[in-house]
Parts: sequence; structure tokens; C-alpha cells
Amino acid sequence: MTTPIVRASTQLSLKGKTALVTGAARGIGKRIAEVFADAGASVVIADLRLADAQATADAIAQKGVKTLAVAMDVTDEAAVDAGFAQVQQQLGAVDIMVSNAGIQIVAPIEDFKFSDWKKLIAVHLDGGFLTSRAAVRQMIASGRGGSIIFMGSVHSKEASKLKSPYVAAKHGLEGLAKVIAKEGAAHGIRSNLICPGFVRTPLVEKQIPEQAQELGISEEEVVRNVMLKDTVDGQFTTVDDVAQAALTFAAWPSNALTGQSLVVSHGWFMQ
Ligand code: NAD
Repeated sequence: MTTPIVRASTQLSLKGKTALVTGAARGIGKRIAEVFADAGASVVIADLRLADAQATADAIAQKGVKTLAVAMDVTDEAAVDAGFAQVQQQLGAVDIMVSNAGIQIVAPIEDFKFSDWKKLIAVHLDGGFLTSRAAVRQMIASGRGGSIIFMGSVHSKEASKLKSPYVAAKHGLEGLAKVIAKEGAAHGIRSNLICPGFVRTPLVEKQIPEQAQELGISEEEVVRNVMLKDTVDGQFTTVDDVAQAALTFAAWPSNALTGQSLVVSHGWFMQ
């Protein structure tokens, strides 16, 4: 008698899991929430903009999963803790948390306003800290552990002109992801970083004319000669590319994948 071949499932499942994604009203975070819902997770759309978060949550609920929209400014300790408490009460402890909310401000360092530096650092680093701390607390208390995913960037690895606080913050998130991987292991908590190349979301659409003005070149040149110059194929990364990477980190069943960063950038940056 031959032994039946057991094949690994190619369908990553998040059934029975609750996932919170920050900045998920639109852009990359929204697509991550949709893909998590397709994999069976209950999803929480946490965003500054509650009306848009609610619209996203309502659309995703059509897939037959539980959804919740939460108003959350990730730079505000009380708002983050209140948002996570609301999730605990309505859906139970989070199993997956994607710290994705982000902003971009571009200027040469000699002109960079300190207030803009602090604003950007607060969204990315204070936000990453406050949301991961709240998630870790729930994951420890539930006894189930979980998966923390930070939205880094190729700018977690590389620098570009005009982006001093963004590059500093995205490098910082790699460090935070590694610390949580070490501290979280005892509780079954994994922590990883996704590093996308340029994705054509509102965050990038806004930068194209701004960079054209700062660099004195056309918008088409910004796309071709600045944003996509070092890719292997001149292509933007897509929200789907990033969401599939997030699904892999969310569903991975062991500590084999923790403290890692995955660069999703059409070869712009090769590790
Ligand atoms: P986006 O502007 O389309 O969406 C960002 C979302 O975050 C918005 O819904 C916004 O309301 C929300 N947000 C902003 N500040 C917030 C705050 N203080 N609290 C809660 N929510 C807040 O941006 P995106 O392109 O989808 O970017 C998402 C993440 O991906 C960011 O961290 C960004 O740095 C990162 N990223 C983007 C690209 C890209 O090319 N678009 C590349 C690499 C990394």
C-alpha cells in the first residue's frame, strides 16, 4: 500500500482570528483588511477618518465576516487604548495587528520644519509603539499570542532625498519589530516588517507634484527617474503585492518567521 501524499494547503487561513489594521480606511491598509477578510478573519478598520473607515468596514462586511470601524489617532495614547478596549469588548482580543497608518512630508533638510518632523515621527514611531504595545498586552492576556506587522518601506533600508523624518522613522520601525520579536517569543507573539516600494496610493499621488517642484523636474520624470528608477521592470508595487506579504506574516504558524523584514519593491532594493 502506498502512503497518501499530504500536500500543504496553498490557501492561508485566518479563520477564527481577529485582525486590527491601522490606517485601513484607504490605500494599502484597506487592501490588507480585504485580503484578511477573504482569508476568514474578523477585521477592525482603525483610522483617523471614521466615516471612511465605516464605509470600508461596511463594504468588507459584505464578504460575510465581522467588521468594526474604530476612530483612532495612532499618536494619541488614550485614543489607541480606548480603541483596543472597544475591540476587546466587541470582538475579543486581537490576534493580528498591522501598524500601517502613515503620512509623508517632503522637503530638503535645511528647510524641514521641526513641527513637520515631530508630526511625521509621531504618526510612524509613536503610532507603531502605542498600537503594538496595546496589541501585545491583549495577546499576552489572551494566552493565544499573535502576529504584529509593521508597515516599513524600502526607506527602512535605503535613503532618498527630501525624506529625512520618513527614512529615520521607517528605519526605526525595523528596530521596534526586532525587539518585539525577541520579547514576544515567550508569549507566542511574532513581529515582522513589510518594506514596500512605491505604491500608487493617495500618499504617493500627493508626492509626485511636490517632488517635481522641489527637484525642478516634470511629474513624469519624478515617476520614471526618481520613484521607479531602480526597479527591475519600471513598475509600481501594488496594494495586492503588499497585502499578500501581510497575509503570509499573519498566517505563518511558527517562530520561523519573526524579526524579519520582507522587501516588496520590484527589485528596487535587494537584501
Ligand atoms: P494613504 O495615505 O493612502 O493611507 C493612509 C491612511 O492612514 C489614511 O486612511 C489616513 O487617514 C490614515 N492615517 C494617517 N494618519 C493617521 C493617524 N494619526 N492615525 C490613524 N490613521 C491615520 O497611505 P498608503 O500609501 O496606503 O500608506 C500606508 C502605509 O504604507 C504608510 O505607513 C506608508 O508609509 C507605507 N508605505 C507606503 C508606500 C507607498 O508608496 N504608498 C510605500 C512604502 C510604505
